[in-house]
Amino acid sequence: MRSRTVLLLAAVVPVGAVAAAVALKAGSWQLSVSRYAIRLSPTPRRTCPDCKGEGGWWSEGPYPDGEMCWCWDRTQHTLRLRPLPAYDEIPF
Ligand SMILES: [Zn+2]
Repeated sequence: MRSRTVLLLAAVVPVGAVAAAVALKAGSWQLSVSRYAIRLSPTPRRTCPDCKGEGGWWSEGPYPDGEMCWCWDRTQHTLRLRPLPAYDEIPF
């Protein structure tokens, strides 16, 4: 009985340490999950007629600058699950 408990703890601890954050992409959104928050972030739309999924382009001229496409300019949503420790940051 005691050896089963030890084996179970040995199997659970590495999984908890590795799974600090997970990110999934679906459509034009990216879902990031950590123990502290769930975040839904916009990504460029693959079917965008202007940037064709690149998210932006470089302007031309003597001083080229990057411009962000309109399809990527949406609000990011974050749901806090627990307060952050003073010494830690959200891993995404
Ligand atoms: Zn676009």
